[in-house]
Amino acid sequence: MNKNNANFAPLTPVGFLRRAAETCPDKIAVIYGEQRYNYKQFYQRTCRLASALKKRGINRGDTVAVIASNIPAMLEAHYGVPMLGAVLNPLNIQLDSKTISFILQHGEAKVLITDCSLSPRIQQALAMIENPPLVIDIKDNNCKDGELLGELDYEALLAEGDEDCDFSEPQDEWQSACLLYTSGTTGNPKGVVYDHRGAYLNALGNMTSMGLNQNSIYLWSLPMFHCNGWTFTWAVTAACATHICLRKVDTAVIYQLIKKHTVTHMCGAPIVMNMLVNAADDIKTKFDHTVELATGGAAPSSTVINSMEKIGFRITHLYGMTESFGPSLVCSWKQEWSELDADERVGKMARQGIRYVTSEKVKIAHPDTLQEQPWDGHTVGELMLGGNTIMKGYLKNTQATDEAFRGGWLHTGDLGVRHPDGYIEIKDRSKDVIISGGENISSLEVEQALYKHPKILEAAVVAKPHDKWGESPCAFVTLKQGEVASSEDIINFCRDELAHFKIPRTVVFGPLEKTATGKIQKFLLRQQAKELE
Ligand code: AMP
Repeated sequence: MNKNNANFAPLTPVGFLRRAAETCPDKIAVIYGEQRYNYKQFYQRTCRLASALKKRGINRGDTVAVIASNIPAMLEAHYGVPMLGAVLNPLNIQLDSKTISFILQHGEAKVLITDCSLSPRIQQALAMIENPPLVIDIKDNNCKDGELLGELDYEALLAEGDEDCDFSEPQDEWQSACLLYTSGTTGNPKGVVYDHRGAYLNALGNMTSMGLNQNSIYLWSLPMFHCNGWTFTWAVTAACATHICLRKVDTAVIYQLIKKHTVTHMCGAPIVMNMLVNAADDIKTKFDHTVELATGGAAPSSTVINSMEKIGFRITHLYGMTESFGPSLVCSWKQEWSELDADERVGKMARQGIRYVTSEKVKIAHPDTLQEQPWDGHTVGELMLGGNTIMKGYLKNTQATDEAFRGGWLHTGDLGVRHPDGYIEIKDRSKDVIISGGENISSLEVEQALYKHPKILEAAVVAKPHDKWGESPCAFVTLKQGEVASSEDIINFCRDELAHFKIPRTVVFGPLEKTATGKIQKFLLRQQAKELE
């Protein structure tokens, strides 16, 4: 018995859109302000994009970078680019120009589709590149004044393409579909590569975990650049549901849209929940249905879960990382929890949970021996994952890939316990990252920026708990002999070196505690940072 066209087709998330266009062409697929596209139009626009790129010489395996907010063009790129067999590289819109230029060069982007509201930073980034990509500007009513950087705009590009298209891609489901850069523990971001199969499966995992169906209305409060919006860019389409695009996370607008469109689902890091809960009463437009909100990226507090429930949201806690296509664990609701008192119930919900239906392997294990730890709720080990929704590897970085996949498991660098009911709870991190407002910040990158300061002798950066952002970078520095500098000096210096969300909010001066071998004892600094007011 052989694989043939009748019994095998490569899995691809692009197939979800083909099906939606075929089965519910008139259904509203995308809403953005006053703009509406039904599924037929959505599909035709992605076909135009794929075919126009093809005419411009983009082929299988080429990288197409996109830097944009959650606007329709960004969503369309999630189909038009992989449909062509090319690789979609969404960039974080908050990055500084140096990092953007690094990514464009490292990922060898042939095309950059850029939101014109970001023009100044993108222009600087492009100026640093010897062979810059073809630049396509996305014009939008919201960025009338943004300078156009390329030779044509997005709509003109679409006009070059054909709306009837039939690309036979991917030819293999293991083909690369996306490239996402993550601030790991090293200074330069690492390029995580996704295949079509993993993207397809993880999207279906989301659909199941969050109960998306054709009546769902999904509001884009989570950046699409973050793990392809945790693969909801494809999950919502798989369900033939409606995407509501949103340029900016503005609490008042979110409340209005929830009411206006009867939003049923949204996602966001705990910071989004904090913003919604703490919004002034006059912008909290009341709604009388329940909104399913998936949160992850950092652990939500029990208090915020409780407060969100009181204003009409039902919270589902997800865990994942860029290397695992976003969500891999879900704190699946158990009927018996409804009998618990409020504190105990939200305590259970604040755990990271059990593996997704599409996720094959998970364990809490000893990081060196890989031996699974007992499910006793207190023996800490490293969370390890495996299966079909794990990245192919890091682009052009075999060493980091081998390290991440040591012993046949993806090492997450997160430390946790497994409870007797099988639910996982994250307690700490062994990796050197700071997670602020759901964004990863590499401590090393901030330290490297600090070391450029002429008065700094030594620097170490750790996470400090922060009420609003969850964590913020806290810098411990030792100045060179005889030098004087204030916190403001140091912080202002970092403004020229780093994206704004990476700038230390606190600077502590003094000698840094070291081990006998001269290694800075970061765990002591982390404790110190926790105790600072
Ligand atoms: P990123 O690759 O930017 O998505 O960041 C992934 C990291 O975010 C994980 O390795 C965790 O350290 C953290 N993270 C994600 N989800 C959660 C969660 N639900 N609870 C605690 N930490 C989380």
